[in-house]
Amino acid sequence: MDGEEFRRWSHRAADWSADYLAGIGERPVRAPVEPGQVFRQIPDAPPEAGEPMEAIFADLDRVIMPGITHWQHPRFFAYFPANASPPSVLAEQVTAAIAAQCMLWQTSPAATELETRMLDWLRAMIGLPEGFSGVIQDSASSATLAALLTARERALGHTGNSDGLFGQKPLRVYASAQVHSSVDKAVRIAGFGDRNLVRIPTSGPLHGMDPAALRQAVEADIAAGLKPAAIVAALGGTSVGACDDIAAAASVARAHGIFLHVDAAWAGSAMICPEHRDLMRGADLADSFVFNPHKWLFTNFDCSAHFVRDPKALTDTLGIRPPFLRTLGQEGFVDYNEWSVPLGRRFRALKLWFVIRAYGVERLRGMIRDHIAWSRELAEAVAREPDFEVATGPVLSLFTFRYAPAGLSEEERDRLNARLLEAVNADGRIYLTQTSHAGRFVIRFQAGSTWTTREDVLSTLAVLRDLAPRVREAERRAA
Ligand SMILES: *Cc1c(COP(=O)(O)O)cnc(C)c1O
Repeated sequence: MDGEEFRRWSHRAADWSADYLAGIGERPVRAPVEPGQVFRQIPDAPPEAGEPMEAIFADLDRVIMPGITHWQHPRFFAYFPANASPPSVLAEQVTAAIAAQCMLWQTSPAATELETRMLDWLRAMIGLPEGFSGVIQDSASSATLAALLTARERALGHTGNSDGLFGQKPLRVYASAQVHSSVDKAVRIAGFGDRNLVRIPTSGPLHGMDPAALRQAVEADIAAGLKPAAIVAALGGTSVGACDDIAAAASVARAHGIFLHVDAAWAGSAMICPEHRDLMRGADLADSFVFNPHKWLFTNFDCSAHFVRDPKALTDTLGIRPPFLRTLGQEGFVDYNEWSVPLGRRFRALKLWFVIRAYGVERLRGMIRDHIAWSRELAEAVAREPDFEVATGPVLSLFTFRYAPAGLSEEERDRLNARLLEAVNADGRIYLTQTSHAGRFVIRFQAGSTWTTREDVLSTLAVLRDLAPRVREAERRAA
C-alpha cells in the first residue's frame, strides 16, 4: 500500500468510524451470534497473495461486525463501561500511525514526559495529594500485580527477588471477598499463594471490610508468626460497588508497616467530582492507587492510571537495566518500563491529553454526574415497580435489582431472574449482566457510555415491564 492509497483508506476508515458511531444505537447491544459462527467464516489458511483493501473492508462489515458487542452503545449497561470518545479515537489513530515503542525515555522523550504530566493532571483531578507519582499501566490487573510485588519485596527486605520465595515464611494479604479477581490472580502470580489471601468480612451499606476484623486478623497472624505484607482496599468493587473504609485500613496498615493498595478501577473516575470524594477518604495514606480512565473517563482501552507514593520501591522491584537499554549521556529522566511488568509500552498518554483538553475537566465531571443522576433516577423507578426490588446501591452509577413477584420462593426468583436476563439480552435493546449477592441472583445495572442519554437509561424500565411478565408466563407454563 503506497502513501496515496493509505491516505484514501484512512479517509475511508474515518468515514466508517463516524458512520458506525452515528448508527450504533440501531444495533442490538450484545452480539447475536452463536459460538463458532464467526470462526467458520474465516478461511483456515492465510492468503499467499495480498487481497484488495475493498474486500477486507467488505468482510469487516459482513463477517466481523455481526459478532461485535457494542461497548459504545448508548444502552450498554453491562459489566462496567469501557467508554471511549471522539477525541480519544483521534488520538489513537495518530498513535497507531506513529507506532512508537515507549519503553525508555529516549525511545520517545515526548511520550515519557507527556505521561508524567498527564498522570499529574489526573492525580490532581481525582484529589490525590502531591507526593504520588503516576505511571500508565495497561490494565488495573497489571497495576495490582505491580503493587503486590512491591509489597512482597518490602516485606522481605528485597530478598524475594534475589533469593526466590522458597524457604521464606508465608506473607499475608488482606482483602474482602468484594475485591476484583485480579487481586486473587496477583496473589498467585506474586507467589503469596491462595491460602495467604485472608478474607475480611464486610458490613454496612457499602459492603466494606469490618475494620475491627481487619485489625484482629493482622494481629492474629503476627501472633502466629506470619508476616502481614499487603492490604487491598476496594473503592467501587465490581459486583455491587463495595467501598472499604480506606482511612481505617490505612490506620491498620500504618500501625504494622503493611503496604496499602487501593483498587478504584471503575469508581476512581468519579472522584473527579469532589462531592463523591468521601468514598476515598484515607486514600492519601495509601502506598498505591489504581483507576482506569479506560473504564469511565472517555479514554480508549488501554489506559490504567497507577499512582505510587514511593516510586523507588516500585522500580527497585521491577526495574532491570541491561546494557542494551542504557541511555548514554543524559540524566534526569524516567524510564517507565521499570515501573511495570512488560518492557514494551504503547504511547498511551496522547489520548488522555486529547480527551482532557478537548472536554475540559468540568465537562468530564458533567458527563459522569449525568450517568450517576440518571442511574439513581432509574433505581428509584425500579424500586417503585410492583414486582421489582432494588437489591444493592446505587453506589455512584451502579445498582442491582431483582424481579420478585409475590408467591415465589427465593430459589424460584433466582431462576426467574436468570430467565429474565437472558430474555433482555436476546431482545437487544439494552444489555445487562448479573452477579450474586447475599447468595441470590441479582441483575446489575450501570450507566457510563459516552453516548448514553437520560432516555436511554430510563428505557430500561420499559424493557423490563415488557419482558418480565412474558418470562413469568413462560415459566408458569413450563412448570
Ligand atoms: C475492571 C476492574 C478491574 C480490572 O481492570 P483491568 O484494567 O481490566 O485489569 C479491577 N478492579 C476492579 C474493581 C474493576 O472493576
